[in-house]
Amino acid sequence: MNTLEPIERENIKKTARLLLNSEFAIVLTGAGISTESGIPDFRGESGIWKKYKPKIYGSIQSFLNDPSKFWKMAEEIAPTLFNAEPNPGHYAIADLEKENIIKAVITQNIDELHQKAGTVIVYEVHGNINRFTCMGCRASYTKEQILRKIKKEKSSPGCSFCGAPLKPSVVLFGESLPNFEKYMSIDLAKKADIMLIAGSSLTVAPICDLPLYTLREGGNLIIVNDETTYLDDRAEIVINNKTGVVLPLIVQEVRSIKAKQVSDPT
Ligand code: NAD
Repeated sequence: MNTLEPIERENIKKTARLLLNSEFAIVLTGAGISTESGIPDFRGESGIWKKYKPKIYGSIQSFLNDPSKFWKMAEEIAPTLFNAEPNPGHYAIADLEKENIIKAVITQNIDELHQKAGTVIVYEVHGNINRFTCMGCRASYTKEQILRKIKKEKSSPGCSFCGAPLKPSVVLFGESLPNFEKYMSIDLAKKADIMLIAGSSLTVAPICDLPLYTLREGGNLIIVNDETTYLDDRAEIVINNKTGVVLPLIVQEVRSIKAKQVSDPT
C-alpha cells in the first residue's frame, strides 16, 4: 500500500469491513475501470475522443444520417477495444463476486472486460461492442462476421438479408437503454445496501441517477474514482485513486479479515 495516503489505507480497510457486513452489495462501473486496460475514457486527454467527439460520432442521429462516419471512427477504435485485456481492477471485482460479496455488476462499459475477468453476473446498460444488429430486419451478427464483411465490402457493412445498415449493439447518444437492463439496474440499486462505484464520472444520464435509488432506500455508496463526482458528499467512503490499485487492495483486506475470522472465530 506504499503509494497510498494513510487515509486511503484506512478507507480501504473500512470498505472491506462494510462489504463483509453487507447483505446485498453491488458494483457500478464506468469507463475509468478500463483505462488501465488501454481503453481511453470519454474525459481523459488521451486521443480518440478528442478527435471524434462522442456526442457527434456516437449519436444515433448521425448514425442514421450517415453510418459511414461512425464506421470510420469504429475502424480506429475497434482494435483497441477488441484487443484489450482485463486489468487488476476487473479481476478484483470478479474476486469479490467469487467471495460471494458482490451480487451483481452494472456496467456502462461496452468492452466485456468484466466477463473476460470472470465476473458472471453483469448487466451491460449501454450494450456490448461484440454483437451487431441489422437496423432493418434485426438480424444479429457476431464481431467475426462484421470484421469479415468490412474486409470484403470495404464500406459501412450492410445486412446480408435486407441490405439495411448494421449497428453495434451499443447504446448511442439519443437512444434509450435496453429495457431489461434498465429495470434490473434500478431494481438492484434499490435493493443494494452498498453500491461500490468504480471509475465513473457519474455524468452520463440516466445511469448517473442509479446511486440515488440506493441512497433513498438507506444504502451506502463507496466511490473509487480518480477525480471527484457529484455524489462524493453523500458517499460513506470516497477513495480518489486508481481502480487498478485500490480494488485489489480491498480484496486483499477482505481475505485477510476472513482468514482472521476463521483462525479466531471469537
Ligand atoms: P467517463 O469517461 O465519463 O468517466 C470516467 C471516470 O473515471 C472519470 O471521472 C475519470 O477521471 C475516472 N478514471 C479514469 N481512469 C481511472 C482509473 N484508472 N481509476 C479511477 N478512476 C479513473 O465514463 P462513464 O462515467 O463510464 O461515462 C461515459 C460513457 O462512456 C459510458 O456511457 C460508457 O458507455 C462510455 N465508454 C465506455 C468505454 C468502455 O467500454 N471501456 C470507454 C469509453 C467510453
